[in-house]
Amino acid sequence: MTSKALSIVIPCYNEEECVDELHRRVSAVAKAAVGEDHEIILINDGSRDSTWMKMQALAARDPRLVIINLSRNHGHQLALTAGLDLSCGREILILDADLQDPPELLPQMREAMRNLGADVVYAVRGKRVGESFAKRATASLFYRLLAKLTDTDIPLDTGDFRLMSRRALDALMAMPEQARFVRGMVAWIGFKQVPITYDRAERLAGETKYPFAKMFGLAFDAITGFSTAPLRFASHAGLALVGLSVLILAYILIGWLRGTTVEGWTSLMLVVVLLGAAQMFVLGMIGEYLGRLYLEAKKRPTYIVADVIGPVAGSPKLGHHASTTTTSDTPIGSDIRPTK
Ligand code: UDP
Ligand code: MG
Repeated sequence: MTSKALSIVIPCYNEEECVDELHRRVSAVAKAAVGEDHEIILINDGSRDSTWMKMQALAARDPRLVIINLSRNHGHQLALTAGLDLSCGREILILDADLQDPPELLPQMREAMRNLGADVVYAVRGKRVGESFAKRATASLFYRLLAKLTDTDIPLDTGDFRLMSRRALDALMAMPEQARFVRGMVAWIGFKQVPITYDRAERLAGETKYPFAKMFGLAFDAITGFSTAPLRFASHAGLALVGLSVLILAYILIGWLRGTTVEGWTSLMLVVVLLGAAQMFVLGMIGEYLGRLYLEAKKRPTYIVADVIGPVAGSPKLGHHASTTTTSDTPIGSDIRPTK
């Protein structure tokens, strides 16, 4: 596959008011950074307005524009995945269509990638202009809850706006799961990932394409995709109930010894408490196995290799989808030789 220096990937859903300005600004930024050696990939995620028509008109004028029309609305994360799949850039910039994430940050991101030897430069939202208090509050709460529940360090207050190296993207695309929470998956792959902070602009035009229901769906994908904590809840409840039942058993026993209880109460209580604890415990065990089964079913690569230095005897086992640099002084993310 011939490659380009830079791919810019942008999912669009009902963005007819944004695409022209988006294309103008993104094109200018890309040309200033790498000249003609770039591609802009716009994905039409089943828009109901004239987004696709506008894209076609733009593509007729700009040979560097690749446009993809999805069969229906698949949602932001899958539209993004479709674009990433078709990209051929050695560096990949992910952007929103509404210009809330200024493409003009690209030079700064490339510089951070070079100077710090990073594979991913992600943009952390500082100030947020023109977004409702409810949106900011729920987003903030969500990122903090997610951090508590998961083992993967998913950066706080970070959307999908980021620059990635080719090998980082290859690692991302080696994760075959259906429910895709891209920003979490990128965090999962590892490599050196560095933040830059920016102030989030207002949407250029139109309404948010993330109403509450879609945000909830995304949050649910994130939590279930990166944590089995909800499944483990039964285990913990079972344990707590076992502890509690010891106290209750003592109470029942004292009542029985004193002969102060109604006939039959003791045996009834014993059955209720013990069975309750046993059921919770067994449910918890099932939850634990189900959690593991779920993780296995995702078939993620078991590990991702960053570098191999020195002679390797035979064919090195590099994980499902790794790339390798062979010398230590090659800056990470610039000279990449895929193993396949
Ligand atoms: N988007 C999409 N499919 C959807 C919803 C959103 O491709 O079903 C795109 C949308 O066009 C935009 C990006 O995802 O480029 C982020 O959406 P939006 O800006 O509305 O979200 P917000 O910034 O309000 O969270
Ligand atoms: Mg937006």
